[in-house]
Amino acid sequence: MSDPITPLAKANIPNPKDGEIVAVAEDIWWIKMPLPFRLNHVNLYVLLADDGLTVIDTGIYSDHIAQCWDALLAAPPFTDHPIRRIVVTHYHPDHIGYAHSLSERTGAEVLMSQIEHEKSMALTTLDDVAFADMMIKRYRMFGFDQDILNALAERGNHYSDKMTKTPDAGYIQAGDRLTSLSGDWHIRCDRGHSEHHIGLYDPARRIYLSGDFLLPRITPNIATPLAAAVDDMLGHYFAYLAEMLTWGDDWLVLPGHDWAFHAVSTRAAGLIRHHQQRLAQLLDHADHAPLTVKSAMDALFPMELNEHERYFASGEAHAHLYHLVKQNAMICAPDQHGVDYYELR
Ligand SMILES: [Zn+2]
Repeated sequence: MSDPITPLAKANIPNPKDGEIVAVAEDIWWIKMPLPFRLNHVNLYVLLADDGLTVIDTGIYSDHIAQCWDALLAAPPFTDHPIRRIVVTHYHPDHIGYAHSLSERTGAEVLMSQIEHEKSMALTTLDDVAFADMMIKRYRMFGFDQDILNALAERGNHYSDKMTKTPDAGYIQAGDRLTSLSGDWHIRCDRGHSEHHIGLYDPARRIYLSGDFLLPRITPNIATPLAAAVDDMLGHYFAYLAEMLTWGDDWLVLPGHDWAFHAVSTRAAGLIRHHQQRLAQLLDHADHAPLTVKSAMDALFPMELNEHERYFASGEAHAHLYHLVKQNAMICAPDQHGVDYYELR
């Protein structure tokens, strides 16, 4: 979600336009793939090894993205080298959506973390009714009005809309390595923005492919998981950010959205402050009256939200309230209609 913390300065490297690919190093390319949302693009990366290319993330599945891939595949580096691997950072459709199709087109193996793969499988296999039922149950607990619940039934499975199907995948985990011509990439798995997100970093060159965990302009969405037990995602993200405070500001970060940047620790400090302010804001509101996820969302995001945005904003409000419960600052109890109320302890 958009945020008041100061955007970071751009690293001085070439920036691709929509649908374009630019070389960042002899063995790294950056693709800017358009998205039909307010967040209007996702960054994909390509690494070159002796045996061919590794593509990191793919964009959503749509006719337009298929055409973008048609154009990309008809030009270097794809005409010079085969795609051997597709690494998917996490299960969100803007990252995994086209992976099945790209794998079918190229024969490349898809690599993911097992948890993200199983998550994607679980969501794509739900039919429209089952998906809507899951969302209605969640939104009812959050305290949304009946008209919002009714609209969910019409929306159906908005996850599988943006992909054909979850690809078969080989599994990678923290500590695994991947090489490119000049790179020895360490794989890390982080929890917070998603449940087991893959990041890659090359310590010798100090280059970090951060996916959606560290972004230069917006704050990564931190939400309680769908179709899984509630988990303290904000607590996990704070642990990640605490580690990033130790990295310093001399890395080249190639993120999942917006532009490349250097200031890892500065950004981590800003994000910690941002989430602490939001927690303080909720405690302040709860001092006047118990909160629902909906009223917490209205306090944190006081703007008109469409359903796509409401989905992220409500998950984010829930993650903050649940973190306060885990920190023993609040207690949560349902009323007779099944709506959860959060009170100061
Ligand atoms: Zn994401």
